[in-house]
Amino acid sequence: MLDTASLNALLAQPQKIVITTHHKPDGDAMGSSLGLYNYLIQQGHHTRVITPTDYPDFLSWMPGNGEVIIYTTHTQEAAKLIADATLIFCLDFNALNRINEMGELVRASGAYKIMIDHHLEPEDFDDYRHWDINACASAQLVYDFIVNVLNNKKLVNKDVATCLYTGIMTDSASFRLPNTTSAVHRVIADLIDAGAINWRIHELVYNSATENRLRFLGHCLTNCLEILPEFNTAIITVSKHDMEKYAVNTGDTEGIVNYPLSISNIHLAAFIVERNDKVKLSLRSKGDFPANEICKLYFSGGGHRNAAGGESTASLQEVVNKFKLILPGYKKLLIQ
Ligand code: 5GP
Ligand code: MN
Repeated sequence: MLDTASLNALLAQPQKIVITTHHKPDGDAMGSSLGLYNYLIQQGHHTRVITPTDYPDFLSWMPGNGEVIIYTTHTQEAAKLIADATLIFCLDFNALNRINEMGELVRASGAYKIMIDHHLEPEDFDDYRHWDINACASAQLVYDFIVNVLNNKKLVNKDVATCLYTGIMTDSASFRLPNTTSAVHRVIADLIDAGAINWRIHELVYNSATENRLRFLGHCLTNCLEILPEFNTAIITVSKHDMEKYAVNTGDTEGIVNYPLSISNIHLAAFIVERNDKVKLSLRSKGDFPANEICKLYFSGGGHRNAAGGESTASLQEVVNKFKLILPGYKKLLIQ
């Protein structure tokens, strides 16, 4: 275990640092990781971000992106960095199975492990924890960590601010989710003052789609959407065939699950997609409905109350049927 004073003492000397984040990184995962990266490199630490898998093009523009190592394509280099590290930051996840086979390498490394995260039920693998489930994004916690744990607000430069803004913007659904408190807006104001260009970040993330992605979205909404009015629930089911037909890339499915929630009375939306070797579910809900409970109990997953995910090795149709059979048990919550 590390206390705050010992952590600060360690960081006063140059360290060999690995920053990692969860499988299929999203905006908060990449924004947190590169935000912290751009902070640490100013202090002379040897720092590398390693992602377990690739991530979408709309997140590939952040400062420091060119230095990111993807484990699946640079396995040996990544494994050596993990083995040699003195500190490993684990950002936006709290269980080592979220980083696939990298998890065991991180567990085996002699490095101190520092978790900065906002998910429920952390696994006990870390030496220092900056964890708060009320935070709207891990990037908010990285900001708090730099400013209030490391007392280094002056090192929040334009690059750090740009990455952390991206993390908070994407995880709060553009400052719309209930956990977007006034404190979050104050952090955002600080990040803009530090050089984050808000309108440009929105352009880069949300207005950088391809024609294919827009046509795929149209297909999902026209042909794959099923509304279950008796449960105030919507399901979008996408087959492997659809994915191939529209040449869907990493990131192209991101956010599609949110569209059905724009229908009044829809309280729960599911996006169920057939990937190569498994079926992946993304759930989004409004208000108090616990989407993460369904993912945890039935689909080996988890997440937050309003945004959760899981997976299954059953067939696409079986997964859809299973999901539908779960709904009657939640009918009371869904129809209020
Ligand atoms: P998404 O639907 O965007 O894939 O995931 C939404 C949220 O659910 C993520 O931020 C993450 O917290 C959580 N999540 C997604 N997939 C999994 C999973 O397989 N296991 C766990 N524990 N959480 C997941
Ligand atoms: Mn997050």
